[in-house]
Amino acid sequence: MDLLNTLVDKGLRRELPTREEALAVLATSDDDLLDVVAAAGRVRRQWFGRRVKLNYLVNLKSGLCPEDCSYCSQRLGSTAEILKYTWLKPDEASQAAAAGVAGGAKRVCLVASGRGPTDRDVDRVSKTIEAIKERNEGVEVCACLGLLSEGQAERLREAGADAYNHNLNTSEATYGDITTTHTYADRVDTVQKAHGAGLSACSGLIAGMGESDGDLVDVVFALRELDPDSVPVNFLIPFEGTPLAKEWNLTPQRALRILAMVRFVCPDVEVRLAGGREVHLRTLQPLALHLVNSIFLGDYLTSEGQAGRADLEMIADAGFEVEGADTATLPAHRVDAASGGCGSQGGGGCAPCGDTAGDTAGYTGQQAAGTPGARPDLVSVRRRGAGTGLAPNA
Ligand code: SF4
Repeated sequence: MDLLNTLVDKGLRRELPTREEALAVLATSDDDLLDVVAAAGRVRRQWFGRRVKLNYLVNLKSGLCPEDCSYCSQRLGSTAEILKYTWLKPDEASQAAAAGVAGGAKRVCLVASGRGPTDRDVDRVSKTIEAIKERNEGVEVCACLGLLSEGQAERLREAGADAYNHNLNTSEATYGDITTTHTYADRVDTVQKAHGAGLSACSGLIAGMGESDGDLVDVVFALRELDPDSVPVNFLIPFEGTPLAKEWNLTPQRALRILAMVRFVCPDVEVRLAGGREVHLRTLQPLALHLVNSIFLGDYLTSEGQAGRADLEMIADAGFEVEGADTATLPAHRVDAASGGCGSQGGGGCAPCGDTAGDTAGYTGQQAAGTPGARPDLVSVRRRGAGTGLAPNA
């Protein structure tokens, strides 16, 4: 297919596809799916070989958020029966993180619900970062605390944070439909603050919220412009008790096409398969490893993922390898650059809430659970790990 040959050539040269080319990937048929995966897989192997980076989530503070992000089980008014707890103590968070590191994770993502941290919260998280780094030599720590005020990114950097996550989630045009308590511009501002403070910026999206193909392409192009080092791709987990509980819009094939499009637009960036992979990709998860070079190990913030051991077996069975702590994730040209990023010719809740979409392009309406692809039985609220007395899944 000419389209795929063009996209592979551009991906190998780190050249931006056109918007029409990105849209055409989303519009390919199921008959062409394996060709699409193979093409994007060539781009993935060029920049990341067969390595898979493992990341581990620790939810420092769960639920009770005053913000109204429609996709989020921790939002204002959510009746989802998630765990609710306030800040974990540094040693509790460190203990949870250690389980992920022991499972092979090289990055720990510290997430807290809320609009953004107070300065006291930044102090708290700084102590947690120190505790984690002391216990786990060489581990990368990413903070995900919401909107940042002036100086907070710098303070987190000084405390040892390596990265900061704040997702754009959806296109600027549809942002107001999913959240009213803050704006798309607020989110862009925080990603820029993190980048400006020398933190590795991580920013991604949530697919399956009823957005059109054009919205998906818009947000991925906006991410490339923002130039994060890592781009998490979440697939909406429609939690009962949230406004998007009936949004079952994704199929495994659609999810793969979305990941392929992100890889073509952001060829040399850490593309991370995030929340919702078990629910939406299901038995096709191993194919996604040909597209992404990074996944979360084990559970998500408020939902349970497949067993950490099953993640490791899937990686090995598919012929990939877990990336070691001493291997740089990003290609040399990005490490050397003053700042990395999605597509420089040259990465929510705050994010991975993990929170579906028909296989048709341009879907913009609501579908009822019970439509093909709806698997509410696979949505499992997290009941173990951080904030509980049970061992974490790692
Ligand atoms: S995504 Fe973050 S800010 Fe929005 S409701 Fe969830 S926890 Fe709050």
